[in-house]
Amino acid sequence: MPFPQTRLRRLRATPVLRDLVRETRLDPGDFVLPLFVEEGLDGRGGRVPIHAMPGVDRLSIAGAVAEAGEAHALGIPAVLLFGIPADKDEEGSGAWDDEGAVQLATRAIKDAHPDVLVIADLCLCEYTSHGHCGLLRADGSVDNDASVELLARTALSQAHAGADLIAPSDMMDGRVGAIRAALDEDGLGDTPILAYSAKFASAFYGPFRDRRGYQMDPANGDEALREALLDVQEGADMVMVKPALPYLDVVRRVKDATRLPVAAYNVSGEYAMVKAAAAAGYLDERAAVLEALTSIRRAGADIVITYHAKDAARWLQ
Ligand SMILES: [Zn+2]
Repeated sequence: MPFPQTRLRRLRATPVLRDLVRETRLDPGDFVLPLFVEEGLDGRGGRVPIHAMPGVDRLSIAGAVAEAGEAHALGIPAVLLFGIPADKDEEGSGAWDDEGAVQLATRAIKDAHPDVLVIADLCLCEYTSHGHCGLLRADGSVDNDASVELLARTALSQAHAGADLIAPSDMMDGRVGAIRAALDEDGLGDTPILAYSAKFASAFYGPFRDRRGYQMDPANGDEALREALLDVQEGADMVMVKPALPYLDVVRRVKDATRLPVAAYNVSGEYAMVKAAAAAGYLDERAAVLEALTSIRRAGADIVITYHAKDAARWLQ
């Protein structure tokens, strides 16, 4: 029935009514806090601020344990670990070093906070001297299949260190299947895979290397579905879309097509924009962050990976 019988404003009249009919709720239980763990920081105060990401630090092992504990106390169930090695080489061999930053931090966090879910980001780019996500051929292109073997080796090292979930972020073809097979053969059949299925070559990660040869073209939504469905076929337990806010349509389509738990990664550039605008007095940080995170959930994400996790959890208390 049209106006005047139908008046949608009736249900917006009071806070109680609005609360009763609210479709999407934010809960810290759906957040994941990313942590950057750097080798060799333990002797240097334990944390170094990251430029352009106010409130986010590179952490020592002890610093990562403390952050994980703080997140847990705020109701955030999981952390996503990135490693920053002391040394890099052509192959990225630090990635599968059993004493590497991610492996050591995983063990330390699981020892101190057994209930915190540790998700290990799996890629080679932090460990390779050239900064690409895989092995380079002589002509400078990334060798997909050789890289997949090294990724599988890294997954085993991370899972044996105690990682609860393995999250490959490299965008090589066939890596989810290879990692699943390697885990299963090594007695790690219960370790789930959270695949970065639709990772776009985005300006919102900041000025990184050109990865358009393997990360997705921001213009392509159908291709994102193909990526996600292939990862599902290869054994992914959950899929991810990264970044989040410029790709909310992709989040919705991936959710509808896979019916799997979907994670969306609210990336560094998305965080930095809000922080900078709030610092300049252009917007209300709390309101803007909660609105942005709600929109990611409304788009269909079950899990929101965000640097705002601790602030948002405090605001929601
Ligand atoms: Zn990478």
